[in-house]
Amino acid sequence: MSTSEKWIERGLTHVAKTYGRYPLVAQSGKGCWLTDVDGKTYLDFLAGVAVNNLGHCHPKVVKALQDQAATLIHSSNYYHIPAQIELAELLCQNSFGERVFFCNSGAEANEAAIKLARKYSFDQGHKERNEIITAQASFHGRTLGTLWATGQEKIQVGFAPVMAGFKHVPYADIDALRSAVGPNTCAIMLEPVQGEGGIHVAPKEYLQAVRELCDKQNLTLIFDEVQCGMGRAGKLFAHQHDNIEPDIMTLAKALAGGPPIGAMVARNQQAESFGPGTHGSTFGGNPLVSAAALATLKTLLEDGVLENGQVMGNYLWQQLEGLKDKYDFITEVRGRGLMLGMQMTIEGAEIVKTAMERGLLINCTAGSVLRFVPPLIVSKDEIDQMIVILDKILSEI
Ligand SMILES: *Cc1c(COP(=O)(O)O)cnc(C)c1O
Repeated sequence: MSTSEKWIERGLTHVAKTYGRYPLVAQSGKGCWLTDVDGKTYLDFLAGVAVNNLGHCHPKVVKALQDQAATLIHSSNYYHIPAQIELAELLCQNSFGERVFFCNSGAEANEAAIKLARKYSFDQGHKERNEIITAQASFHGRTLGTLWATGQEKIQVGFAPVMAGFKHVPYADIDALRSAVGPNTCAIMLEPVQGEGGIHVAPKEYLQAVRELCDKQNLTLIFDEVQCGMGRAGKLFAHQHDNIEPDIMTLAKALAGGPPIGAMVARNQQAESFGPGTHGSTFGGNPLVSAAALATLKTLLEDGVLENGQVMGNYLWQQLEGLKDKYDFITEVRGRGLMLGMQMTIEGAEIVKTAMERGLLINCTAGSVLRFVPPLIVSKDEIDQMIVILDKILSEI
């Protein structure tokens, strides 16, 4: 029995069965490469589901974590936290935002956004306005609130009662959105690029029309950038491509380069409604995770990582288009930056499994969309290596 097999067997007994895990037991990582406990290496184009934007164990993130861990790991939000303050400043300096609430995950960031949108509406004297419109095929998380905010029935089955206050409309359909807005609507929540739903990019005209609708009807616009933010889509935040700003933005996944974090960035107008005692989190933005996030964000901004992500995104796109020309079961390449999807007419699960056996980590969303979200530090050579492995697998279909 290999070391991997031993861990896999032990994992069957006491760990919750919530994930259909692949037979990989990761031991270490460096850049775009992951090594398992038996010494096999994998080219990682999943990057911890768009978390490791700086690759595995980026030296600056490691250093920040080591230094902070040796100084102060946790103190609580009863007290002020320098790294958290600096992180909030940097996020606001680089976005529309004016105030940041920190938590521990994407779902929590969206919970904060939902609560703030409702509280803001309440504070304006609109007690009846508490409904939030989201998109079909969206993904906003797995907590009881975000589960019902998500526009996917498959993650809701068995968790009745349906939580009131959410309405779902087709993505990128402005007429559907306009007719869904009613006297009880307080906010619209959208991913500028849908991730789990199959990599769908909202057209600029759509986002513009949504912004106008929100301005006209006094609705709060929330962008969920948990996946497409932090440089993933080629700009620090995906909505910056089109210069259409929300009132609230949620972040998580790549924000701290691996350690768990979530953030809700808001304008002061809305953020005023989160006064002392209205919301909170024990761990949110603690010294350790804030230090990691600060190092991650500085590196993203200063070391040409965003630029590399954009250039490599274009290169990967071209290579995927090459595969599309070659195989008629590939119908479309789409996405932005290094958040790319390849739509196929066949299921992707087998391809993902075979790729893993051959040392390549990719993933499939929405059944038939191969998703490519490598670290933003990926090189041309690594993309070429990925394409060689994938091409070979596709040629065998
Ligand atoms: C992953 C994801 C979430 C949920 O984040 P968790 O950290 O798993 O709670 C929410 N929204 C989007 C767009 C995501 O991709």
